[in-house]
Amino acid sequence: MNDPRQMAASIVGAIEWQSAVSGYCRCPGESLHTHKSGKKDCRVCVDGVPTIFCFHSSCAPAVADANKRLRQGLSTSWTLTMPDGNVLRAGDVLQSTGTILRREVYLARAAAESRHPGEQLVLETLVAMAGRFKPELFEKFFWPFDQILTDSPLLVADRDPDDQFRTWLRLWPANSTVWIGDIYSTGRPEHATHFRPLSDWQKIGPAMGNYTCGSAFKPGTYSRSNANCDGTRFLVVESDSLKKDEIGAVFAYLNNRLRYNLHAIIDTAGKSLHGWFDCPRNKVMEDRLKAALTVFGCDPKLFTYSQPVRVPGAWRNGKLQRIVWLKD
Ligand SMILES: [Zn+2]
Repeated sequence: MNDPRQMAASIVGAIEWQSAVSGYCRCPGESLHTHKSGKKDCRVCVDGVPTIFCFHSSCAPAVADANKRLRQGLSTSWTLTMPDGNVLRAGDVLQSTGTILRREVYLARAAAESRHPGEQLVLETLVAMAGRFKPELFEKFFWPFDQILTDSPLLVADRDPDDQFRTWLRLWPANSTVWIGDIYSTGRPEHATHFRPLSDWQKIGPAMGNYTCGSAFKPGTYSRSNANCDGTRFLVVESDSLKKDEIGAVFAYLNNRLRYNLHAIIDTAGKSLHGWFDCPRNKVMEDRLKAALTVFGCDPKLFTYSQPVRVPGAWRNGKLQRIVWLKD
């Protein structure tokens, strides 16, 4: 069987194609779903690393098994002629622009970044797939600002500035050295005063600036650089383009589907919300997450761990930077 679409259909059943290489199908683990199944919950893609992807998490073992069969079935060389006449070969990726990313190109990228070619293909596939299921993600995981406030396990949004700040300090492991300051309170010995243990900040309060950082620092540091981070860190998810009613979908997807642990959501007193999550377990997971989050509209700078972010309890133009959702 040479048509990859027929091969995919022999594994997942009827496919409602949305493009030449990707369409909706019935989830191979539908009977395991603990929430209602929708028509657009599960998708199959035959390009790149052929993948069946479902928004539910309870079906994961069945989906993993079907993915194995799909990839075995499509491991032979196949070609598919696109509507524009271009020919897609096994292992090529059809990008959202409609252009084909050729194997030779991503192999060169892998070499340039000293990455395993297989992992490079996973990343390229992830980017293409994230673009395909982005509309469904924002629909299914829709979590507008008002709902975030209502859903918070702990009622925090109305706490006073001092309480906000102290509540936030409790997210950190004891003994962490945390930076608080303004953007430029870093780089010279006199800035050492902005890098303090939690016990100091508990006494001082949020008076030393509007910013902090998702990473803790080595004691004695006076410069907010990646090299001085001590390894204790949160992944702070933010976006310059997603509105307060939109980014909640990304937070919910990360927390509920990908199982990154959401600790808090912070209202920056500007246009955006920041989600504080556990950081990825390793560099491979981090690169994958970065690739997908960037497609969803999040700021790739969030993977610079010394990046300044808004600290709760400080005022910004008369508005309070505050925690609006807090894990129990
Ligand atoms: Zn499923």
